[in-house]
Amino acid sequence: MEKLFEIKNLNMYYPVTDGILGNIKGYVYALNNVNIDIYKNEILGLVGESGSGKSTFGNCILKLITPTSGEIFFEGENILTKKKNQLKTFRKNTQLIFQNPYMSLNPRMKIYDILKEPFIVNGIKNKKEIEEKIKKIVSLIGMQDEILSRYPHEFSGGQRQRIAIARAIILKPQFIVADEPVSALDVSIQAQIINLLTDLKQHLNLTMLFISHDLSIIKYISDRVAVMYLGEIVELAEKNEFFANHKHPYSQALFDAVPVISDDKKHSKTILKGDLPLPNNPPSGCKFHTRCPYAMDKCKTENPELKELAPNHSVKCFLFEK
Ligand code: ADP
Ligand code: MG
Repeated sequence: MEKLFEIKNLNMYYPVTDGILGNIKGYVYALNNVNIDIYKNEILGLVGESGSGKSTFGNCILKLITPTSGEIFFEGENILTKKKNQLKTFRKNTQLIFQNPYMSLNPRMKIYDILKEPFIVNGIKNKKEIEEKIKKIVSLIGMQDEILSRYPHEFSGGQRQRIAIARAIILKPQFIVADEPVSALDVSIQAQIINLLTDLKQHLNLTMLFISHDLSIIKYISDRVAVMYLGEIVELAEKNEFFANHKHPYSQALFDAVPVISDDKKHSKTILKGDLPLPNNPPSGCKFHTRCPYAMDKCKTENPELKELAPNHSVKCFLFEK
């Protein structure tokens, strides 16, 4: 499979500053040595509990924030060493859809102007071309032209997310980060937005990083699944393999955290011990050892590598090392 992204040894440490002088007193280790490829035309699902570094990862690979170290190749070129004016094509080809459709649309702008903005930013001025493309995109997201003269507050959450999606895809990007795009929406609306995204993916040949903490959504939409814990990828597998045969104790814990109807079942399950450790003072060794029911002595001091168990299935855990 052809790679769209190659991400190598990616680290992101947010400095934590102190009082008015702003001295750095420590770091939040949000991403630690992340290595992953993203293949053309796939939907890579990224799952993990809140605070695990998912959004930081999405923002780094779009170069919306600059990582502390590492390399990010997009179509073979390292975007981290490029200057702003060399990133124009990259910016046009990559887009972000984020969680809150109430915050992502400027309340003072009509929908027409919201959808026109990407053209202006990219120096496209042909009025007729812009109008045609806007009308086309409106029908693609299942809405009518009459929305164009209205303002964001006149729409529901689901409709606003459709409009935000339209803006993200209007210049036909190659790649989209969808960061919890349905988490703020009613469950009844979530499926519509997910279906819209999968349709658009087909229609536009998109590649997507789909971030969610919800395994049922990840199962529905992804081709591959990556599990993140405290800024590290602990398991990476093809979707069906992952759902049938996940190995990492943290992946198991994520499944156990999904509510089950039967009470008896609940009792036999391992529930995650304790809270997510603070990423400004991560545990030594394997970061999951403080909550892992299978932790061995070695796990407290040594950090295992993400290793391939089988084709299309990698796990970062000493339990599975020979
Ligand atoms: P997720 O999307 O999985 O919830 P994030 O990437 O938002 O995780 O956050 C990862 C960690 O980095 C968290 O501990 C979070 O508090 C911290 N963090 C995120 N953004 C910043 C920032 N701008 N400054 C300092 N810490 C941050
Ligand atoms: Mg997030």
